[in-house]
Amino acid sequence: MTRIRTQVGIVGAGPAGLFLGHLLHLEGIDSIIIENRAREYVIERVRAGVLEQGTVDLMIETGVGERLRREGMRHGGVQLAFQGRRHRIDFEELTGGRSITIYGQNEVVKDLIAARCVTERPLYYDVEDVAVTDFDTPKPLIRFRLTGKEHEIRCDFVAGCDGSHGVCRPGIPASRLCVYEREYPFGWLGILARAAPSSDELVYALHERGFALFSMRSPTVTRLYLQCAPDEDLGRWSDEAIWAELMERFNMSDGWRPNRGEIAQKSVTGMRSVVVEPMRHGRLFLAGDAAHIVPPTGAKGMNLAVADVRILSRALAQYYQQGRGDLLETYSDRCLLRVWRAQRFSWWMTSMLHRSRDGSGFDYRRQIAELDYVITSRAAMTSLAESYVGMALG
Ligand SMILES: Cc1cc2nc3c(=O)[nH]c(=O)nc-3n(C[C@H](O)[C@H](O)[C@H](O)COP(=O)(O)OP(=O)(O)OC[C@H]3O[C@@H](n4cnc5c(N)ncnc54)[C@H](O)[C@@H]3O)c2cc1C
Repeated sequence: MTRIRTQVGIVGAGPAGLFLGHLLHLEGIDSIIIENRAREYVIERVRAGVLEQGTVDLMIETGVGERLRREGMRHGGVQLAFQGRRHRIDFEELTGGRSITIYGQNEVVKDLIAARCVTERPLYYDVEDVAVTDFDTPKPLIRFRLTGKEHEIRCDFVAGCDGSHGVCRPGIPASRLCVYEREYPFGWLGILARAAPSSDELVYALHERGFALFSMRSPTVTRLYLQCAPDEDLGRWSDEAIWAELMERFNMSDGWRPNRGEIAQKSVTGMRSVVVEPMRHGRLFLAGDAAHIVPPTGAKGMNLAVADVRILSRALAQYYQQGRGDLLETYSDRCLLRVWRAQRFSWWMTSMLHRSRDGSGFDYRRQIAELDYVITSRAAMTSLAESYVGMALG
């Protein structure tokens, strides 16, 4: 048995866990990060790509934004497409200069891992059988196996940053949790295509056949999504069928289309909303997807994870530097305020842009009316823009 001692034990090396480790390091606080996947898997995992202004600013301020500044694609707006026409929502003009940046989650993770390596603070991959106990005592315990050997970390606090399928949340007695959930009756079929983006901005489209999203990851890689059934069988979709469906849903009267290219990756993701309350249990703090999931339509998931750990790192810094726990006490409430705002926005975008399976003509016309309102009313446009670029980080 290897016994280790640290101040903060972090479970999970996704954006939440890695960013927390980075922020704690800057405050002079020790941490150990454990991750049950291999390093390559964590780095290659293709997921989010939209960074809010606050996330970008935080990366730059804390010294992990150099490559982001060089390679990130700053977008001053998005486009809404319906009835064959695209309409621009100008974020910068509507929000006093705020914007979003396209930079893959895997690139964020790569930058954070590089920063962690420089600090020489521990980050263990491929750990097995992780269990978190004693979080109601002053010395919580994390147990795991690494290369066949048992390990124990005694720490002051545990950060549960292990995503929606982790062990931290299930380790909390169900009687102490309130779980709010909503399943959506559709999913997203997503592809990465080796093709130059044919638009400088994201295009969200509502078509009679369903939702489609045009996005990008780099000047040579386009990311595209199609609304599908939540349990869609990917095997039914040849590359040709995917392109045909995309071209149909992005059929614009100005002739705009996504560029086609080799499909490098495809996947189906179900869509759901989950919020777990509270996000603190004794000395265990949940952060990121371990505590909440949003449908990807609002592009909030990774940004919420970063916002949580920003609040947590400040609270822990106050505890260690001033011997005070009031920010730890309010951690859950402060995070949940932002989480519920993001849930509202993600739910609204999802319901405005997706067709329900039993989609009646009434609903479709109501959705078109809503989109028409959003592109013609400055108040409605501003509301979308403010929510999309995100609240400032506290
Ligand atoms: C298709 C898709 C598109 C998305 N688009 C966007 C977008 O545009 N913008 C956006 O902001 N968000 C988006 N998201 C959401 C975003 O990817 C997540 O919200 C984000 O990954 C959350 O980060 P996290 O660190 O909390 O969790 P995760 O990234 O899930 O990280 C958790 C980590 O914990 C590890 N782990 C799990 N169990 C254990 C264990 N027992 N022990 C140790 N480690 C463990 C996991 O391997 C993982 O590395 C999207 C998600 C999907 C699926």
